[in-house]
Amino acid sequence: MSFNPADNIQDLQYFGEFGGVNPSISDSSTYTFLHAKTMMDTFEGNAEGCYLYSRHSSPSNLYLGEALAAMEGTETANVAASGMGAITPTLMQLCNTGDHIVSSRTIYGGSYAFLKNFAPKFGITTTFVDITSLERIEAAITDNTKVLYCESVSNPLLEIADIRELSKLAKKYDLKLVVDNTFSPLSLSPVILGADIVIHSLTKFINGSSDTVGGVICGSQEFINDLRNVNDGASMLLGPVMDSLRSASVLKNLRTLHLRIKKHSENAMYLSKKFEEDGIKILYPGLKNHPQHELYKSMYNEEYGFGGMMAFDAGSLDKADELMELMQNRNLGYLAVSLGFYKTLFNAPGTGTSSEIPVEEQETMGLTDGLIRFSIGLDNSIERTYQEMKACMKEVGIL
Ligand code: PLP
Repeated sequence: MSFNPADNIQDLQYFGEFGGVNPSISDSSTYTFLHAKTMMDTFEGNAEGCYLYSRHSSPSNLYLGEALAAMEGTETANVAASGMGAITPTLMQLCNTGDHIVSSRTIYGGSYAFLKNFAPKFGITTTFVDITSLERIEAAITDNTKVLYCESVSNPLLEIADIRELSKLAKKYDLKLVVDNTFSPLSLSPVILGADIVIHSLTKFINGSSDTVGGVICGSQEFINDLRNVNDGASMLLGPVMDSLRSASVLKNLRTLHLRIKKHSENAMYLSKKFEEDGIKILYPGLKNHPQHELYKSMYNEEYGFGGMMAFDAGSLDKADELMELMQNRNLGYLAVSLGFYKTLFNAPGTGTSSEIPVEEQETMGLTDGLIRFSIGLDNSIERTYQEMKACMKEVGIL
């Protein structure tokens, strides 16, 4: 039977302490031991099923981690307090001073800033490449390269990484392929396609209610154990731990992810097609004119579609601002960063979420000032939304 991430989540069964239909929330930072020796063994990582301290692990975080590992097809997972709290320990764990990373140049601005400005403080350097060019990626690999880093669907330009081919390169040069799958949960399963580690910002589609930040690292038991190691584990020592109350709430939201993703994808596809017919140059992986449309189709879990992210260039920052303000006034969505909410969210990433990327680099990657990134919401009547958005576009002179 083929891999189905949502079925894998649903196959898990958890009960609460008193037969509750949701697992009990572990409301403790520390845990008692009947025997002092077991405490020692737990410190050394040799006491399966025992909890020591909630920065290390907690039952609630393990439940959520298990569900996300089932979704991504990995042995296990470690949840974190934010997406950045998942990305930075992963890279710090995989790299030592003198090591090198080859990264896609179109990634979330915070990840870019970490690689460009922060990691060099520890002697870890990064070459940024066009992730759609396997030749350039291969040419950037050096003897010191340890990690190939990308987003499956890039932020904000919606470029698609060829995960199968990237994993072949990673194997050839003995690198770890780390994929941020925040934009395409359920639709793409990077580990099934050959990636070693998958990361999500849970803040976005997975939690889906824009009420918390969160993150997860899905990988092998060995790697997750390394991250949690009390002596040299980056997650344990840097401490980006998610609170148990939050992870219990994210787990409950995860249960409806399949329904939400299908609706986000359906709505984004509908608007993309309609605006394309109107002559707007829409960036959406579900459209045939997207440069990696066929690639996406060769990788995706079809029933979840092409995702909820769509973008187009309004021509200038002024036009983009005018349109976004008008759409917000008409209650078509919110002018806000982030994504994966029930309501449509939009922003102009060149001056917002990607502003960490220097302007000249934005230009070479094709990130224009007027680009508006949309996270399409769960609108019930998408035709009505289309008509109202179209009216806004006409009013500001884009259509
Ligand atoms: N990865 C991607 C693709 C993102 O868009 C973001 C945030 O916008 C992050 C990672 C960082 O996640 P967080 O804000 O939860 O730390």
